[in-house]
Amino acid sequence: MEKIYLTGDRPTGRLHIGHYVGSLRRRVELQNAGGYKEMFVFIADAQALTDNIDNPEKVRQNVIEVALDYLACGLDPAKTTIYIQSQIPELCELTFYFMDLVSVSRLQRNPTVKTEIGMRGFKESVPVGFFTYPISQAADITAFKATHVPVGEDQKPMLEQTNEIVRRFNYIYGDTLVEPQILLPDNAACLRLPGTDGKAKMSKSLGNCIYLSDDRKTVEKAVKSMYTDPLHLRVEDPGHLEGNTVFTYLDAFCRTEHFAAYWPEYANLDELKEHYQRGGLGDGKVKKFLTAILQEELEPIRQRRHEFEQDIPAVYDMLKKGCEKARAVAAETLDEVRRAMRIDYFDDAQLIAEQAKRFAAKK
Ligand code: ATP
Ligand code: MG
Repeated sequence: MEKIYLTGDRPTGRLHIGHYVGSLRRRVELQNAGGYKEMFVFIADAQALTDNIDNPEKVRQNVIEVALDYLACGLDPAKTTIYIQSQIPELCELTFYFMDLVSVSRLQRNPTVKTEIGMRGFKESVPVGFFTYPISQAADITAFKATHVPVGEDQKPMLEQTNEIVRRFNYIYGDTLVEPQILLPDNAACLRLPGTDGKAKMSKSLGNCIYLSDDRKTVEKAVKSMYTDPLHLRVEDPGHLEGNTVFTYLDAFCRTEHFAAYWPEYANLDELKEHYQRGGLGDGKVKKFLTAILQEELEPIRQRRHEFEQDIPAVYDMLKKGCEKARAVAAETLDEVRRAMRIDYFDDAQLIAEQAKRFAAKK
């Protein structure tokens, strides 16, 4: 089967380095490697509204920010269809049909949604739209017959839910939809990059982010204040790597050539870790090294973003074209879905003829 890639991001803020290592970097690599039929990337504004219903302006303002981050990272509209979720009404229709295939208790077991409900302090008043967003995500994926979804680890339960829906749908209505495969980052540190506070995953909603568009000074400050090892009080103390955010970020971003460029005293990350654990290496030096690596990675992204910011109407135009193309694809799948579900009354000449015959026989 030909590959169809699909992913999305919520326009709840600019994109951060967690998105980058968890999904965005991979998408750009896949896009440029070729060998696929389609690549879809969308801005999940309707999903963002499920927990931002009082703040539509936030969602509206961040659509362009996310689009700029995409372009800055190297997503290319000539190769990737970039679109906005709410502009594809077929997705709502598909969600509505999928709702019959999922039980409330199944949704309640979704660990990511459970954590997110806790984080957002919904308590007893969880919006139905938020609670059911894994179903709408199944529609987002299947409407495009995506075969591969490159995302971070928090999305695993969503992909499992999607595949259950696809299996159930195909079992009841006949083979129509495609089961997607999750593409997780190979590097364990990238599965769920922690925030700079070292507590939870880096997340726009938690304010513990380094954004792709942050300027040099902001990045430097964020790394300086980063959580490390609370037991590593004096330079000579042995340091611990477990839960040490600076080292997790090094695992995610550091390549051997960075040592030759910025810290030739060490040959590779293993040597650096070994010295840190032995004692005698201060956090300040490690943070300086991490800052240099992040600046090297982020500088070209910042520059490209700056260029795209010079022509904002062109970015909206690109999105509009993406929406038109995406809508045509989703509409085709919905035609198939309606046919499979036996709700294509006016397109089925045989149905009308048979009914006419049945009623004629009654006379
Ligand atoms: P929000 O707080 O609004 O949910 P978010 O920061 O979690 O925002 P999403 O838009 O929900 O970002 O996630 C978009 C994509 O980025 C998903 O594929 C998700 O798995 C991935 N992702 C988000 N945060 C991280 C992270 N810290 N580490 C790795 N991948 C991440
Ligand atoms: Mg999220």
